[in-house]
Amino acid sequence: MEVFKNPADLRKFLSQQKNKANTVGFVPTMGALHKGHISLIDEARKENDLTVASIFVNPLQFNNPRDLELYPRTIEHDLKMLEQAGCELVFLPSVEDIYRDKPLLKMSFGSLEEVMEGRHRPGHFNGVGIIVSKLFHYVLPDRAYFGQKDLQQFAIIRQMVRDLSFPVSLKCCPIIREEDGLAMSSRNVRLSPEKRAVAPRIYQSLKIAEDSLRSGVEEARNAALSFLNSYPDIQPEYFEICDAETLQPIKDVKEHGSIVICIAAYLDGVRLIDNILISIRTI
Ligand code: AMP
Repeated sequence: MEVFKNPADLRKFLSQQKNKANTVGFVPTMGALHKGHISLIDEARKENDLTVASIFVNPLQFNNPRDLELYPRTIEHDLKMLEQAGCELVFLPSVEDIYRDKPLLKMSFGSLEEVMEGRHRPGHFNGVGIIVSKLFHYVLPDRAYFGQKDLQQFAIIRQMVRDLSFPVSLKCCPIIREEDGLAMSSRNVRLSPEKRAVAPRIYQSLKIAEDSLRSGVEEARNAALSFLNSYPDIQPEYFEICDAETLQPIKDVKEHGSIVICIAAYLDGVRLIDNILISIRTI
């Protein structure tokens, strides 16, 4: 596995590969890798000649400095996992390399970011848009792989790729969960054993809403929130039932093709997100 820290070296190597007509699959990450990340590598490997991962904790997308400071960094372990997964190339740039000049550009995504993560993390999607654009320009991938775990992020990147005509196709891959249902996340390691035991209730609350959807959207939301009320350690920041394409909150399930139920909640001072996609036919 090749590891490049310098963007110019990465570019040079990849342009040689492109000349050999190799297709490039790209998986951007912030490291502290787990099986969820590796599922994206597996998917990229199935569909491309060369799989590139990046590890970069992007300061521009953290609206909370403490969250940035506490973000787990496990680079040795990450490189081992990527090597074992058969990833051929890792891009590991420094903050100085990426942000030598502070960007003046601001990206905004209209209604797509007025809800959920965008609403509660001002500036977050500007940071995501800028780093993903930069990484796409360095790597020039044919295909890029993202997780449904960050569904709003996927919707934002899809919009950006359409609006700016990036020559890349995108794939949204399913959420990988622990056996007890908790969505795998780099932030899970920050939970104490006691709080980790409560964490699967977050996913359970999504399932409760799904089961209650037949009675109505508001009823489903209330059922989930009253379930979570019994676990005071979990403090929901939002719980939304939305159209899966537009991400706007819905009132009537029947008017939508597919919907998504999304939650962000604090547990042990750690902010966790999760969601489930539901096809209307299954309700
Ligand atoms: P991150 O390192 O958190 O920025 O995540 C890098 C990519 O991995 C993003 O596209 C995430 O959506 C995806 N990802 C994170 N957790 C999971 C998971 N549990 N299952 C599948 N993909 C995930």
